[in-house]
Amino acid sequence: MAAQTVASTTNSADSVDLGPAAALSCRECGHRVPLGPVFACEECFGPLEIAYDFSAYDTEELRKLIEAGPANIWRYAPLLPVPADVADKPNINPGWTKLVQADNLARELGVDAGKLFVKDDSGNPTHSFKDRVVAQALEAARAFGFTTLSCSSTGNLAGAVGAAAARAGFRSCVFIPHDLEQGKVVMAAVYGGELVGIEGNYDDVNRFCSELIGDPAGEGWGFVNVNLRPYYAEGSKTLAYEICEQLGWRLPDQLVVPIASGSQLTKIDKGLQELIKLGLVEDKPYKIFGAQAEGCSPVSVAYKAGHDVVRPQKPDTIAKSLAIGNPADGPYVLDIARRTGGAVEDVDDEQIVDAIKLLARTEGIFAETAGGVTVGVTRKLIENGLLDPTLTTVVLNTGDGLKTLDAVASDTGLTATIRPNLDSFREAGLAS
Ligand SMILES: *Cc1c(COP(=O)(O)O)cnc(C)c1O
Ligand SMILES: [Zn+2]
Repeated sequence: MAAQTVASTTNSADSVDLGPAAALSCRECGHRVPLGPVFACEECFGPLEIAYDFSAYDTEELRKLIEAGPANIWRYAPLLPVPADVADKPNINPGWTKLVQADNLARELGVDAGKLFVKDDSGNPTHSFKDRVVAQALEAARAFGFTTLSCSSTGNLAGAVGAAAARAGFRSCVFIPHDLEQGKVVMAAVYGGELVGIEGNYDDVNRFCSELIGDPAGEGWGFVNVNLRPYYAEGSKTLAYEICEQLGWRLPDQLVVPIASGSQLTKIDKGLQELIKLGLVEDKPYKIFGAQAEGCSPVSVAYKAGHDVVRPQKPDTIAKSLAIGNPADGPYVLDIARRTGGAVEDVDDEQIVDAIKLLARTEGIFAETAGGVTVGVTRKLIENGLLDPTLTTVVLNTGDGLKTLDAVASDTGLTATIRPNLDSFREAGLAS
């Protein structure tokens, strides 16, 4: 396989220090292989994920170690595939973002006071959740001796890769569809890496990247979401860790999580399960709800139809950061939603815009369209009776509204235009 060609040209598994990560293990058949830049099982082509050895940990010592750690994702280094001294290496150090108790939003949605929280990942270095997974992939790239960081992207990922590579002194070369909006190109290009427009759509970009991974032209390249995917994906666990620690080492009762490939939702569940097994939180039931845009809702459609497989869709929605029509982790998301007693729901573009404005007006948080999806879906789940408004609920906002200004630009603007005098001010009905 192409991925193994890459593995054989870089550091051997023996020289790799990725902390508690013990091996890669196939999610489908359990086949184990040494840690390396591979992502598909050689036996069944299932996805590989990190298997850990946490056996040496004492619960209370671990808790103290975490609490004394830095205010970023590396406080959880003992639970991640990174060396113990990761915090000393140049990285963008995302995470430890705010968990906002959203009482005003709760009132609007009919949730009990003190029970609704927004985990606001717009506060990451490049203003989206993607910094968590890219920071993690960068450490794997370093461990495997890669010198170039790469990815295929439609926006958020490109910026996160560019920033992380710049900070760590890696070359970065990112591939995007050539006709992306100007704003996204600027946000990806400003970090000074190479940004290549491909004449084609996002699927064409992906296909090209797969070809490059198997070719000498891509030797020494770490594609964060392809050959480094098992490591990259683990970055999402930190959302689960932070939410529980910020709630005082408690599991929330309900979480509302956006779905693009479904990786984030899957790894949040993995992170919660680890905290339970390690004794860092008390074991109790929790429900995970998945959120999609109606214009790209393959997982939601499968969930409602009672299917185990996900039928691909052609995306057409303003929630572009979630617009993956053929989500790799879709079947695992269905499993998790059903096992935990959650659900998968979707909202249309108008509901997304309404939800962005609702969150901004109630809590002062300006979310990108992905946050409009989760807040909109939360409202819908409460209306449907699927989400219990008396229980502790955490809604994820995974990106900054400044990234998707167009979504709200058409129906927000000046309240009034007045002459610079008090009469004019009063005439406009603005006086107190
Ligand atoms: C990538 C992304 C997600 C989650 O993507 P998954 O592929 O499901 O892990 C969520 N929100 C934003 C803003 C993203 O960019
Ligand atoms: Zn397998």
